[in-house]
Amino acid sequence: MSTFKPVRGMRDFLPEEAKIMKYVESQARKTAELYGYKEIITPVVESYELVAAKSGEEVRLRMYAFEDLSGRKVALRPEFTASVARLVATTLRNEPKPLRLFCVGSLYRYDEPQKGRFREFWQSNFELMGSNKPEADAEILLLTNRLMKSVGLRNYKFKIGHVGVLRSILSKEGLTEENQNQVMQRMDKKLYDEALKMVRDAGASEKGIQTIRELVNLRGEDPPKVLENISETVKDYTEAVEAVKNLGEILSLVAKTGEKLGIVIDAGFARGLEYYTGMIFEVYVPELDIALAGGGRYNKLVELFGGEPTPAVGVAHGIDRIMLALQEQRVEIGIKEKQPVMVIPVSESLNAEALRIAETLRMENIPVELEVMGRKVSKALEDADRRGINYVIIIGEKELKEDAVVLRNMQKKEQTTIKIRELATILKPSQAS
Ligand code: AMP
Repeated sequence: MSTFKPVRGMRDFLPEEAKIMKYVESQARKTAELYGYKEIITPVVESYELVAAKSGEEVRLRMYAFEDLSGRKVALRPEFTASVARLVATTLRNEPKPLRLFCVGSLYRYDEPQKGRFREFWQSNFELMGSNKPEADAEILLLTNRLMKSVGLRNYKFKIGHVGVLRSILSKEGLTEENQNQVMQRMDKKLYDEALKMVRDAGASEKGIQTIRELVNLRGEDPPKVLENISETVKDYTEAVEAVKNLGEILSLVAKTGEKLGIVIDAGFARGLEYYTGMIFEVYVPELDIALAGGGRYNKLVELFGGEPTPAVGVAHGIDRIMLALQEQRVEIGIKEKQPVMVIPVSESLNAEALRIAETLRMENIPVELEVMGRKVSKALEDADRRGINYVIIIGEKELKEDAVVLRNMQKKEQTTIKIRELATILKPSQAS
């Protein structure tokens, strides 16, 4: 018995799991189509410098980074946004805006493996480049809602904040961007006391510290009301008031569509990635305490990579976690699959005929599994029965002379002789299962 197994944090997806993953992926692709996002495929290996630039300490420290054989410092991508921003800063630089880009694939982070946290995981990623308008932010929230709904999830909630609120206060209180990042990282991990101590140590005023302390405790499910409270709390910080107003506009647009999004506004909400500049959000279901998706506005990244100033907003949906949530909520997934027909030759001398007939049926789009184990018909039929096959075609010498085969209905345990040329017509209606 071999002792090989997947490396810690890596998983195999067996057919049933792979099928569900492909289903979620197909729903993401459908969502992309519905909202006009074009799919692109970017490399798994990127330059370390690119992915490290603004990913935040948390992700930076957990990257699979190494030197390739030419001594280039590279990393397995820990997220998609840097790659898409690189493209928009370079190859797609002169493309008319807005640019709506979609990608799906695997990401790598050396996270501590636990439920819903893996070292290789999958995301579907949407980026809307070139617009600073609230309707762009609203679109990202709405398409995320559409995806969650289309896979069949229930009771999911959007946790929403705006980094502009905290950042503009910290900035006015004299904290450097580096210090702000440190504070935001503590906030992201809900280490509020540590975050407040950092703010104090950086020389912020008592009023500033008090304002942040109040914000951290400000959250609720009634957006207009919570936003009004936040606005009142930050009233002495003009830019923070503007940020709250921006969030209000985005959420009012979403509300006007009639889509009923479950929303929790959280004024002390921060996200690990450093590039966010505006609205930020995550999606949760009650059954799991980890986010299914995360996103927000990042207006400086493309410029940081040497591109034109390009306001942008995007989202990454964690496919593994969506799968986990579907399992937790026991969502029945209606994946339509064609049932294969099994083709069994009665003796080895008929193998070539069996193969030929199988190919003829496949040309007609009928999935066929051929008996390749050299088993006797009775054994092969037992196997077909065990695997729930509906129809078996038995190839025998006598029937072949008449250009015919035996077609066996496994459920009814009945069989008839059928002309080969009639097989496809008879089998087609029985395919959908
Ligand atoms: P982020 O890129 O950190 O904003 O993450 C976006 C989404 O990716 C999260 O909401 C998760 O659904 C998913 N995700 C991030 N890290 C992991 C991980 N280690 N394992 C599984 N899913 C992850």
